[in-house]
Amino acid sequence: MRLTKSTDLALRTIMRLAVTGAEPCTARQVAGEMQVPYSHLAKVAARLQHLGLIETRRGRGGGLALTATGRTASVGQLVREFEGVGDVVDCEGDAPCPLRQGCRLRMALRRAQEAFLASLDPLTVDDLVASPTGPVLLGLVGRAPGVSP
Ligand code: SF4
Repeated sequence: MRLTKSTDLALRTIMRLAVTGAEPCTARQVAGEMQVPYSHLAKVAARLQHLGLIETRRGRGGGLALTATGRTASVGQLVREFEGVGDVVDCEGDAPCPLRQGCRLRMALRRAQEAFLASLDPLTVDDLVASPTGPVLLGLVGRAPGVSP
């Protein structure tokens, strides 16, 4: 199962915000540190905010910050939110597969997909930023090369 770029960026964003705790940083700064287009990061951040996992603090020194909910969020749930719950194979697409009414492969893939997500359920965002990831992320803070539009 391959995650979309948006799901991966959502996880990277939330990990980045987790390492600096209560200190907010701007979406442009995070985009620069993660070396992704600002426009993509802004869309992902809006979705994370809608889910209550991050918040925007206004005013001088404001920016994005992780919420308490975000800090303890389940990685599996976050992946489900971003990926949806569709099949890993498009059995019903423009040219529906003739086996779809009784396909053991489809059932096996559904079980495998659920097992994959279930393995991520117990992990929290806090878990993801334990060493060695946290120190690597902290090393990126403040390093923001040219940001793509
Ligand atoms: S063979 Fe099974 S899993 Fe593959 S497209 Fe057809 S119904 Fe879906």
